[in-house]
Order: sequence, then C-alpha cells, then structure tokens
Amino acid sequence: MSEIKFIDKLSKHFEKLPGVGKKTAERYAYHIAEKMTIDEVEAFAKELVTTKKDVKHCKVCGMLTDQETCPICASSYRTKDQIMVVRDTKDVIAIEKTNQYNGLYHVLGGLISPLDGISPDDLNIDSLEKRLDGIKEVIIATSFTPNGETTALYLEKIIKKDGLVVSRIGYGLPAGGDIEYVDELTLRRAIDARKINN
Ligand SMILES: [Zn+2]
Repeated sequence: MSEIKFIDKLSKHFEKLPGVGKKTAERYAYHIAEKMTIDEVEAFAKELVTTKKDVKHCKVCGMLTDQETCPICASSYRTKDQIMVVRDTKDVIAIEKTNQYNGLYHVLGGLISPLDGISPDDLNIDSLEKRLDGIKEVIIATSFTPNGETTALYLEKIIKKDGLVVSRIGYGLPAGGDIEYVDELTLRRAIDARKINN
C-alpha cells in the first residue's frame, strides 16, 4: 500500500478491469487526480453508470445492447435465414469488423466448461433452438479451445435437423485462440472457408 491513500482507493477499482495491473491502475488514478478536469471526470462517471444501467441482453440473440432488440436483430438489411453462434458480444464485434458476414447472431454468454461447472443450462442455448424455424444455416464460431470444441459438438448434436445446414468456421484460426483476438483477414478467410458437417 502506498502512502497516498486516495490513489490506493481509486486504483483498486481499475485493478478489477481485465489486463490492468497495479502499476497501470495507479497511473490511471494519478491521471484522473492530476490531469482530468472535473467536467471530464463527471462525464466519465456518468457514462459508467448509464452504461451499466441501460445495457442488457438483446431478447432475441443475447448480445449486449441498450435497446430491447439489438440493432442487428432489428435491421432489415441482414440475411435473416443465417445465424452465427458465438461466445460473447466481443466476438460479434470482431466478426462485424470483417464485413464478411451479413446474417444474424446468437450469443451464448460463455462456453460449456465442465471444469468450471458451466453446463449447457447455464448458457443461452434454449433460445437458439427456438429460433431455428425458417433458418437455413447455423454457423458455429466458437474458438478452438477445449471448451470451444465441447460447445460446438454439443450444439451440432442438438440443432441438427433436416434442411438445416450446420457449418463451423475454422480455416486458419489458431488452435487454442479466442475469436476476439484473431486478426480481421484471418477471420474473414475463416468465415469464407467454413466447413459444413452434415
Ligand atoms: Zn439481437
């Protein structure tokens, strides 16, 4: 603990963020205390609270949004008979950046992980089964990690039905890597070269 208590108090909050260690957290705290104006700090604090209060899961796909139905589900320009299944909203953002996909999404909210006690019941899977009427293709875009594979196999089993193509993106994706960290070009190729399993 440093001698400067107000820095400790503030930096503790930043340390809770992913990828922020003690040193960086302290730099943020000093920056706020010394460099930012009161107006900037107030706007920042207000945005934090507003985001947390307003943002919820889209009632159709499960993606984070500040509306009842997210802009992708609500858009009339998207291909409505294609659903890409991803782990979380960060993956949607990564795939949207590629401009290679114009269908809908389904956000699971995690991956099946027996070691962490996460079962299919804990994820947004029931609602996927209910969305399949009129869908021609489901693209499974979970990562090539043990949990990603387990989830993909489980999904393939439960959504299989006549007339529905189930594919999986994969070509060129790193084994063990998360979709959100894959560069745009690789991701674009992986979507293009998706493999159809049935
Ligand atoms: Zn949605």
